[in-house]
Amino acid sequence: MINKSYKKMLEGKSIIRELSEYATARGKEIGYENVFDYSLGNPSVPCPAGYTDAVVNMYKTKDPMAVHGYSPSLGIEDVRKAVAESISRRFGINYESKHIFMAIGAAGALAHAFRLVTEPGDEIIVFAPFFPEYTEYIGRTGAIMKVVPPRTEDFQINFEEFQHIINEKTMAVLINTPNNPSGIVYSEETIKQLADVLYAKQEEYGHDIFLISDEPYREIVFDGKECPYPAKYYDNTLTCYSFSKSLSLPGERIGYVAVNPKATDADILAVIMGQISRGIGHNCPASTSQLAVSQVLDETSDLSVYETNMNIIYDALVEMGFEVVRPGGTFYIFPKALEEDANAFCMKAKKYDLILVPADNFGCPGYFRMAYCIDTEKVQRSIEVFKKFVAEEYHK
Ligand code: PLP
Repeated sequence: MINKSYKKMLEGKSIIRELSEYATARGKEIGYENVFDYSLGNPSVPCPAGYTDAVVNMYKTKDPMAVHGYSPSLGIEDVRKAVAESISRRFGINYESKHIFMAIGAAGALAHAFRLVTEPGDEIIVFAPFFPEYTEYIGRTGAIMKVVPPRTEDFQINFEEFQHIINEKTMAVLINTPNNPSGIVYSEETIKQLADVLYAKQEEYGHDIFLISDEPYREIVFDGKECPYPAKYYDNTLTCYSFSKSLSLPGERIGYVAVNPKATDADILAVIMGQISRGIGHNCPASTSQLAVSQVLDETSDLSVYETNMNIIYDALVEMGFEVVRPGGTFYIFPKALEEDANAFCMKAKKYDLILVPADNFGCPGYFRMAYCIDTEKVQRSIEVFKKFVAEEYHK
C-alpha cells in the first residue's frame, strides 16, 4: 500500500516548481528569451573560479580513495574544523569542529535541526511570509508548525502576534534572514527583541526553546551592509547554512548546522544529529562537495547582479504604483498584488509571459514573489512587459 499522506502531497504540488516547469515548456514554444521567468530561486551567476579550481585539483591530485570514500556521518573532520574556524573568525563566536554538522544543503540541515529539538506534537513557530517548503519540512517531523502573521509594513517580526502564539509547547522558533520571499533582513533590534522574548519564555516555561536560523542568503545583502548574525544574540541557536546561494552550488547539495557553543548540551548536539541521519537515511553528505567547499569558505560568487536587478525592479514597481518593501538582500522581492486574489493577478501576468508566484503558500495571501536571479538584460526587457500588463489589465 502506498503511504496516504505522501500521496496526498501530490494534490498540493509546489506552485514554484509548477510555474517553473510551465516557463520552461513555454520557452520551448516561443523561445526562452521571451519568457520572463521570475519563478525559481536558482542562482544566475557562476560559482567562483576558486571552487572549480579546488574541484579540478582534488580530482587530479588527491587520493581517489579519500576523495570518493564515505564521509563520516557528522562530516569530514578537517572540513568541520575549517568551517568552525571560518565562522568563528567572521562572527566572533568560538565554534569548534564538534559544533559543526555537515548536511545536505539547508534542507538537510533543517531536517536535522527540527528533529533534534522537538518530539512529535511539539510546536515550531515560523513567521510569515515564509519559504513554503517549511510546511512539508516541519509537517513530516510530526512537530506542529504555528504561523505568526506578517507585519506587512516592513516584514520585520510581528511581536504582538508572536506573544499570543508562543506557549509551553513551543520548542523551537524558526527564522530566515535575509528572507525568502520578502528579501528583508531582520534588523539588530528585531533579533535582540526576539532573543529577549525567548530568554524570558525559557525561564517562564522551564525548558529550552531553540532558535533555528535558516541562513542560505546570509551573504546576499545590499547597500554594503551585513546581516546581523542571530547566534550572537541567543545562546540556544542552531544556524542552518547552505552553500547553494552564496557560492551558486545548489546542485552540490552541501551545507551545515552550526551549534552555538553556549547552547544547552552543545557538545553532543552534532553527535545526536549523526544519529538522526541514521534514522532518516539523509546521511554522509558527498565527500567531494565537502572537500571542495572547504577550500573556498570565505569566498562568494559575484553576487552584485542581484542588487542591480533589485534596484531596477524596485524602482519600476514603485513607479507603477505597487506597494512594496525594498529588499535588503536575497534575490527576491515581494510586492502586494493589484487585486485581492494574488492567484488571479499572477494568472493575468502569465498571459504576458510574465511568470510571478502568488504568495498564498507563503503565509501571506494577496502578495506575490519575484525571484530576480535572471540576466539584467532580461529584467530590463521585462519592465516594459510589466507596464503593458498593468496598464491593460488594471488601468483600462
Ligand atoms: N531555506 C530557504 C529559505 C530557501 O530559500 C531554500 C532554497 O531555496 C532552502 C532553505 C533550501 O536550501 P538548499 O537548496 O540548500 O537545501
